[in-house]
Amino acid sequence: MSEQILVTGGTGYIGSHTTIALLEAGFEVVVLDNLCNSSVESLNRIERICGKRPKFYQADIRDRKALDQIFAEYQFNSVLHFAGLKAVGESVQKPLDYYENNISGSITLFQAMAQANVFNLVFSSSATVYGAPTEMPIREDFPTAAPTSPYGSTKLTIEVILKDLAKSDQQWSIALLRYFNPVGAHQSGLIGEAPNGLPNNLLPYISQVAIGKLHELSVFGGDYSTPDGTGVRDYIHVQDLADGHLCALKAISEDAGVRVWNLGTGIGYSVLEIIHAFEQASGRPVPYKLIDRRSGDIAECWADPRKAASELGWTAKRGLIEMMADSWRWQENNPLGYAS
Ligand code: NAD
Ligand code: UDP
Repeated sequence: MSEQILVTGGTGYIGSHTTIALLEAGFEVVVLDNLCNSSVESLNRIERICGKRPKFYQADIRDRKALDQIFAEYQFNSVLHFAGLKAVGESVQKPLDYYENNISGSITLFQAMAQANVFNLVFSSSATVYGAPTEMPIREDFPTAAPTSPYGSTKLTIEVILKDLAKSDQQWSIALLRYFNPVGAHQSGLIGEAPNGLPNNLLPYISQVAIGKLHELSVFGGDYSTPDGTGVRDYIHVQDLADGHLCALKAISEDAGVRVWNLGTGIGYSVLEIIHAFEQASGRPVPYKLIDRRSGDIAECWADPRKAASELGWTAKRGLIEMMADSWRWQENNPLGYAS
């Protein structure tokens, strides 16, 4: 019998790509999502891509009763925990919603797991837990720092909770995956990132400018001490990220305890480099203007990915132009996201 995996947040951007990778690798996947930031249409697309459909429960991670029912029905080997609210700006406006959804929801999930004797967990963390390091590239042994938003605080708090949990009970086997900047989409153009309203992140914004839905991109700050003055980030293809989860799943099935891995490429690109690569990949112009820095942004951030390479046998394979071309294919084929 194939291993059963629970994917919380599995209809979302990263969760849907990882669900495909899991189904293609032969796992039996159960998706749990409350659809607050995603669409069931992603499940139809997943089925079109891999000829299999995951089981789906529209449920909330804060709903202990619903969790207990799902855990009673299956014998999960592991949980991949993507569910959470992720808009940095919104988290500043609505901190209690973020703490309640992300932290309380995660605690409820971990309690349900423990009761069901499921102790293998992969958690979606973020490079934001490093704060503003003075040195690049960022290694996993760098200290964590007070994040600049309630969203970031939820990630750091959940990491702390999981470390305490693993200390209290050695059955837990946990991967904290610190993502850098996930971009791109499945090469089929059938699934991708579908933000509600005005995008916060660079790639969805650029894509909507290129398709003519938005007028121009505002580049937040041209006066950083970076080669061209704009912010530098480590953009990683979402399918490489998905593959990283499969490698982490294997690692936690072999050893207990908590381990941390950066999932990044190790290469930093500036906002202007991204704009130009996107124009090249899409053949569309991306008009932009330089404006003031966005509060809370750091100048540069890129990963040292060597720990994941040596311990997980994982490295990102897809380059910048492929990331841009895949983002564009998704945008061009689905101008209204999953509504189109
Ligand atoms: P997403 O919003 O596309 O996916 C998250 C999913 O969780 C959505 O489908 C949403 O409906 C669901 N969800 C939210 N709250 C829930 C709840 N209480 N119960 C059940 N389902 C709930 O986001 P994503 O980009 O796929 O991110 C996945 C995870 O990775 C998140 O935890 C996010 O914080 C983390 N992460 C994302 C990025 C990024 O840039 N995309 C970077 C670092 C970390
Ligand atoms: N950025 C920008 N304009 C936008 C959105 C983002 O110039 O409309 C910049 C941002 O300042 C950062 C980079 O693009 O340097 C990546 O930002 P994003 O919000 O995608 O991810 P972050 O690194 O903040 O998590």
